[in-house]
Amino acid sequence: MAEEKIREFHLPTRIIFGVGSLSTLGKEAKKLGEKALVIGGRKSFETHFKPKVESLLEKEGIKLSFFYGWEGEPDTEIVEEGRRIGEKEKVDLIIAIGGGSVIDCGKAISGVIGKKGSVEEFLEGKELPPSSLPFIAIPTTAGTGSEVTNNAVLINKKKIYKKSLRAPFLNPKLAIVDPVLTLTLPPHITAYTGLDALAQLMEAYVSLGSNPITDSFCIKGLKFISQSLKKAFENGEDISHRYNMSLAALLSGMALTNAGLGAVHGLAHPIGVRWGIPHGLICGVLLPYVVRFNMEYCKKKYAELCQILTGIKDAYHLPIFLTQLLWDLGINDRLRNWGIKEKDLAWIAENSFSGSMLKNPRRPNKDELVKEILVPCL
Ligand code: NAD
Repeated sequence: MAEEKIREFHLPTRIIFGVGSLSTLGKEAKKLGEKALVIGGRKSFETHFKPKVESLLEKEGIKLSFFYGWEGEPDTEIVEEGRRIGEKEKVDLIIAIGGGSVIDCGKAISGVIGKKGSVEEFLEGKELPPSSLPFIAIPTTAGTGSEVTNNAVLINKKKIYKKSLRAPFLNPKLAIVDPVLTLTLPPHITAYTGLDALAQLMEAYVSLGSNPITDSFCIKGLKFISQSLKKAFENGEDISHRYNMSLAALLSGMALTNAGLGAVHGLAHPIGVRWGIPHGLICGVLLPYVVRFNMEYCKKKYAELCQILTGIKDAYHLPIFLTQLLWDLGINDRLRNWGIKEKDLAWIAENSFSGSMLKNPRRPNKDELVKEILVPCL
């Protein structure tokens, strides 16, 4: 029977997807601005992407400023630094090419540039005036889906938190998703980012905010993951598996920005900010424990997911499969391998009640998170 609830799905980002699609950058950028701030990350940007991007944009007469060379996930100070360059150079377009970290940095800059107020103030609730500079997102990892989402995840190093700057006008204006750009990812980053896409698709599917539209994206995305995550890890040069993973990540972003996520992402933020572990790795390691934790609250949907991923329609088999998958991807980490001690678990749980946690199918309290997820994962 048709769902009786009225649902909404919002996706204001135009998407250009496909092998070689980066070649459209110059002409597309020209429609949006004349003076661009191009944002990249560290080594991979300079080695693999800067010359190509520079030539595509300069060919169309677009004036360029650059902001790159910073490390890790973006924090409020990095965003302030990029914003200062953009304001000084009076740019009218922001372009970010990189992983989720670089895209989130660009997205945040596009939202705060020229506005009164610090990034920290906006992150902590000051109202963000409803406008942003046109922003083009070009992912070079296949994991976060940030190229289509309305949030930028930022770290505040002084206050030790990781939070989303979120607004309906923050979605990129254009996402150019070219799987070729992911061919240079080393196997461990392929695994971490692929696990992030897997966790996002699974969490969005069972989220309290899920609906039949977002479910369709999750189901299709998980089919791509089941075909290609291990293959892309084993043979990174095979473009067909890179293609599937880029598509899975894109679909995960489309689903999560509408459905929300769950406990994996709620817990991943405090762990990421305090122990500096790659986001996708944390998500992958927590995932089987969160599935066990939620089991009785969404067993039917987990059985469906298990069928997509393994061919076996048995919800209880899902965490077993996920643990095996981690092994196959060379991951056997537990929280203690990252320096986390039993005394830290209450702090992690306490700081995990973000928007993602509120969408988890089981409404947990702090003690349950510690006893049923974090202690078993320690
Ligand atoms: P990342 O952007 O931090 O990149 C990981 C590493 O991969 C970096 O060292 C980078 O230099 C390297 N790299 C990137 N592309 C490469 C390439 N093609 N070849 C070789 N090396 C390459 O990792 P990520 O997982 O893509 O992003 C993680 C961040 O995204 C986290 O901060 C997370 O919180 C955030 N995130 C945001 C959203 C959102 O919707 N805004 C969703 C999920 C995650």
